[in-house]
Amino acid sequence: GAAEPVAVGAVVEGALSLLAGRLRAEGVDVRWTSPSADLKVWGDEVRLQQVLINLFRNALDAMRKTPSRRLELALAVEAETIRLDVRDSGPGIPEDALPRLFEPFFTTKAAGEGMGLGLSISDGIVREFGGQLSAANAADGGAVFTLQLRRAGLS
Ligand code: ADP
Ligand code: MG
Repeated sequence: GAAEPVAVGAVVEGALSLLAGRLRAEGVDVRWTSPSADLKVWGDEVRLQQVLINLFRNALDAMRKTPSRRLELALAVEAETIRLDVRDSGPGIPEDALPRLFEPFFTTKAAGEGMGLGLSISDGIVREFGGQLSAANAADGGAVFTLQLRRAGLS
């Protein structure tokens, strides 16, 4: 679909509310401060929500065996882009998996638990809107997925 200006806050809050049941059941401490209401990016609200749902589900899966579960969303606003860091308190990404994460069908999950398509589809959506998705491990443990999107509504 064509890109249109989408409010970042609505995308994040939509994705969080679709996963609210699981977040609550699994006792996840969600840290998110919503940005100014008029902060917009180029994209499609439903498809960008899909990207975040994929990232949040992966974070929840990674934190299954972690007693203290935290999902931290940090937004940084730059001149022409916004950057959203999605950080979890899981075990992080194994070094040998890092270069393969965005390949279709790459999964470390048991058969029937993961198809390995979430990140490859998400990467495709983000690229289509001129953005970037990348993965890393945080210095103090856990995975960080960074989503960069082009700001819309700039004069
Ligand atoms: P799936 O979830 O079906 O395995 P994805 O494309 O969503 O497929 O993710 C691919 C792989 O990336 C996962 O199997 C897992 O090994 C790794 N991964 C993704 N997110 C995280 C995360 N938050 N922490 C650790 N590993 C992750
Ligand atoms: Mg997944």
